[in-house]
Amino acid sequence: MALATAGSGNQKALRRLIAGILLLGGSSGFGATPAPLRQMTVRVYDYSGVPANVQAAARDGVAAIFRRAGVELIWVDCPITAPSETRPAACDIGPVPGLLTLKIVPESMAGGFRLPRDKFGLAVREYGAYVFFDRLRNHTAAKSLLLPPILGIVTAHELGHLLLEKGHSAAGLMAEGLLSTQFRDAEKGVWPAFTLDQIAWIQRQPKPALVAGAGILPSG
Ligand SMILES: [Zn+2]
Repeated sequence: MALATAGSGNQKALRRLIAGILLLGGSSGFGATPAPLRQMTVRVYDYSGVPANVQAAARDGVAAIFRRAGVELIWVDCPITAPSETRPAACDIGPVPGLLTLKIVPESMAGGFRLPRDKFGLAVREYGAYVFFDRLRNHTAAKSLLLPPILGIVTAHELGHLLLEKGHSAAGLMAEGLLSTQFRDAEKGVWPAFTLDQIAWIQRQPKPALVAGAGILPSG
């Protein structure tokens, strides 16, 4: 229970941590004590064959968003067709606290969810975050947007759903209707953020469990 609820001392520590995180996002962090980042692992199942350069640029954005929330993301690629003995052990274990699952899927898989065509992704706590890649690609073509920023924002948004109890916020990364202005800003390196309440919630998540041999980091 003590781990699950934040007492007043923990609240103070949390406020200091958030202040430190915000300072980290500032110009030089001059005079600020860098807040320790807690680590979370994201295992990625790419069913869409996303080009490596697009994937890398999108991950940079996702990492920047989570870093501002005090989280360092560790990416584990889980090749779809590789035999299980040749891919990281983290790819083939069940749900573990602190281990996030991302599935980037084509329309042939996305259509099975029977969601409106303007939905770019979905998060199912037991199964992971889904990003509908063909819809993103079509949207970027229609709106003359760059693909990595929109892939990054939608990925961060859906991963956020895996961590947050409440669904959407009025503004920021977790706004229900992601706006073209957010995508345009991200093209310039300005990524949408979690709200302070959401950061506090994320920081209260249980520390990742240590799974022997699976590369899941126990530090928080
Ligand atoms: Zn959402």
